[in-house]
Amino acid sequence: MLDCPPQALAHLYRVGAHPADIDLVLLSHAHSDHIGGVDLLLLGVVSEHGARLRERPLALAGPTGIRARVGELVGPSPRLPRPDDPRVRWFEQEGGASFTWRDVRVECIAVEHAPPLPALGYRIGIAGRTLAYTGDARLTPAIDELARGADLLVVECGGDRERGHLDWDDVRELRSRLPRSTRVLVTHYDHASAPEPSSLPGIELAQDLARYEV
Ligand SMILES: [Zn+2]
Ligand SMILES: [Zn+2]
Repeated sequence: MLDCPPQALAHLYRVGAHPADIDLVLLSHAHSDHIGGVDLLLLGVVSEHGARLRERPLALAGPTGIRARVGELVGPSPRLPRPDDPRVRWFEQEGGASFTWRDVRVECIAVEHAPPLPALGYRIGIAGRTLAYTGDARLTPAIDELARGADLLVVECGGDRERGHLDWDDVRELRSRLPRSTRVLVTHYDHASAPEPSSLPGIELAQDLARYEV
């Protein structure tokens, strides 16, 4: 799972997926629209979600300090297992770090979003394919490093450079620098003000509840 917004669990159920099948959550940064659903996801680690217990541990990754930030969100509750609890594995990472969880290889790349808050983008290697995810970020060379050779780039377009996001011109520019073999899927955008798809050649706009194969 790439980030875990407040609506994550509701959307999982709507597409027929079950939270107990999520093995790894990559949190890009500690803004609540990206971590607000972790609380309920953790509830399924310590108790049953819809009469179904998790059979495998859940791994959560994020920038340094992410566990403490999730702890503030959860509050005093057994939902946040102790750091040494085998049911949850935390990977608190800095840019340049990488790790493997089950059959997934993850590279963490520091991106610039809302300093001093640390933010990470991810390159995920799975079954011979590479999925890249920007999280929230300005267009900096780190984004090119992130996207290099990816089969699918999931890129945010919060639309406001002043507030540390890419805008549509940034996404078009990035698209022009990438090979056609890299599919570009835009997320985190305002549907009401999104440009016509015809003005975004080679760029797909992600839709809620849709399925995308890599
Ligand atoms: Zn943010
Ligand atoms: Zn955001």
